[in-house]
Amino acid sequence: MPDDDRSPSLDTRAVHEGALSPRPFGAVSTPVFQTANFEYHGEEYHDVGYLRLSNSPNHAVLHRRIASLEGSEDALVTGSGMAAISSALLTFLGAGDHLLVQDVVYGGTANMLEHDLPRWGINHTKIDPQDPASWEGAMTPSTRLVYVETLTNPLVQMADLEAVVEFARANGLISMIDNTFASPVLCRPAELGFDLVMESCTKYMNGHNDLVAGSVAGSAEQVRRIKLTLDHLGGSIDPHACVLLERGLKTIGLRVRRQSANALELARFLEGRPEIEEVHYPGLASHAQHDRASRLLDGGFGGMMAFVHGGGGEEADAFASRLELPTVAASLGGVESLIIRPAAAIHSGLPPEARAEMGINEGLMRFSTGVEAAEDLIADFAQAL
Ligand code: PLP
Repeated sequence: MPDDDRSPSLDTRAVHEGALSPRPFGAVSTPVFQTANFEYHGEEYHDVGYLRLSNSPNHAVLHRRIASLEGSEDALVTGSGMAAISSALLTFLGAGDHLLVQDVVYGGTANMLEHDLPRWGINHTKIDPQDPASWEGAMTPSTRLVYVETLTNPLVQMADLEAVVEFARANGLISMIDNTFASPVLCRPAELGFDLVMESCTKYMNGHNDLVAGSVAGSAEQVRRIKLTLDHLGGSIDPHACVLLERGLKTIGLRVRRQSANALELARFLEGRPEIEEVHYPGLASHAQHDRASRLLDGGFGGMMAFVHGGGGEEADAFASRLELPTVAASLGGVESLIIRPAAAIHSGLPPEARAEMGINEGLMRFSTGVEAAEDLIADFAQAL
């Protein structure tokens, strides 16, 4: 750690913050505490040492490290991104409550809002994230919360995040944000004033496509309340996955900055190709929220992009099958480049009109940039086109 007044940078904290001290048996990396339960010392129920209650030493290290990376007072690690999102929403919303939600959000979240929460009396209204003047009209006397994503899937749009915070404060709403596509390397919404920041740690936080996990960060009081809900719903993470996630987190700065640099080079290359009709990447001057992204993102514009193959769905699939480096697969954020055609895969459950409304046409491809050499990715795209 630096010995002057500077606080350690994100990269340093990603390696060291919250590590067990003293190191058990001098271990340099955190050992896996593979035990379901711990000796009882008179704790009350939620603090009894038991894995479902997310209180093993492996959990504690991640809670401190993730809170530090997000710039929040506390954090909770969960068994998946959806466990973090559902536990947080169900902590602060009950029967009769209403929330405002950005018009395009991750499919799992959208399905839960559409199909599960209404059965428990929790309803929502979609808002246009680019039009703050319209939000007031969507409020009801029961509105408690506003929910957005830092960068959307698959078109990497960026909401007016500063206006969301201001609106939430002015109206006494809890502000929640899913920061998965950006990761705390590029954006720390808590610093912008968001109350709760969720990550699907399956993606950039872990970064190796080898586990499913999630996190939520916020004030100590809010995180404690969410933990009580998680304790009852059971979406905890096991210690082996904790250790893998801790290992992945150590390189998050290196990975995300490399992925961002690769993505920018590739996006520029694609913009110059006649076969490609549109490129959606916040690092390009042509992106509708490029100025906002330049102001609110740190150190790059992320590894996610979308582009439209002019030949339509069939040509786009043929192009993807000719790529040698990226794998055709869902999920994102890992060191391996992945490509998927949303209309055929992750958004295939939606009717074509709903997809069109979201800007997802047949030839649209989503690309998750890995850490391979940019020149190799570009050469591969060139041969496949
Ligand atoms: N949020 C976003 C933006 C996602 O892309 C995903 C998964 O793809 C999730 C949340 C859900 O995360 P998990 O699959 O870890 O539950």
